[in-house]
Amino acid sequence: MSHSLRILVTAGPTREAIDPVRFISNPSTGRMGYAVAAAAVGHGHDVRLVTGPVALDTPDGVDPIRVTTARQMLEAVRRHLAWCNALVMAAAVCDWRPAVAAEHKLKKTEMPDSLPLERTPDILREVADLKADRIYVGFAAETRDLESEGRRKLQEKNLDMIVANRVGVEDSGFGAETNSAMIVTAGAVERLPLMKKNELAARIIEWIEGRRESRDA
Ligand code: C5P
Repeated sequence: MSHSLRILVTAGPTREAIDPVRFISNPSTGRMGYAVAAAAVGHGHDVRLVTGPVALDTPDGVDPIRVTTARQMLEAVRRHLAWCNALVMAAAVCDWRPAVAAEHKLKKTEMPDSLPLERTPDILREVADLKADRIYVGFAAETRDLESEGRRKLQEKNLDMIVANRVGVEDSGFGAETNSAMIVTAGAVERLPLMKKNELAARIIEWIEGRRESRDA
């Protein structure tokens, strides 16, 4: 039995406001991140779950930290990072936000010709320098080149593991119950068979446990 870990998980999409009733987001349902949180609790670990807006029940034993925007998610991750010894970033953080969010609902007659956007913070990059001996796991939603994109993001974001998911096909990615994934680590690339998100989540947790044990040995 491995030692219990403190695992910080992020899940779900973020929403970036255009006005009080409209936003930019993506189709993430939060299922993968929630499955990771549930698997971690099931393995006896302490879990904190930073979650974007989703329609899922919180796994037993987890108090959710609810956020809406990428900026709020970054702040929550920063606040809880010191507590954790592993970070699993399963959230589908929205990459862009409207440069200005209107204070009041825009009327149809006020529709702008274009919507200036700006980048949201890249949370993993923002906390890269605070990694110390923490284990960082990221996800990559890809429609192609899973392996090369996975390797690139593993390096660029200084991760220990990246789970590259195929999206844009049936049975995998946003909203699906199963995932067709490739696990990329510094030493190996493992192409996994189509499996349920909770099975994939258990694999991720077991890998983190193994990694932690080999470091502590
Ligand atoms: O570069 P890409 O968005 O594909 O990387 C995906 C990984 O980076 C995921 O683990 C995601 O949670 C994380 N991410 C992030 N901040 C962003 C965008 C993605 O931490 N703004």
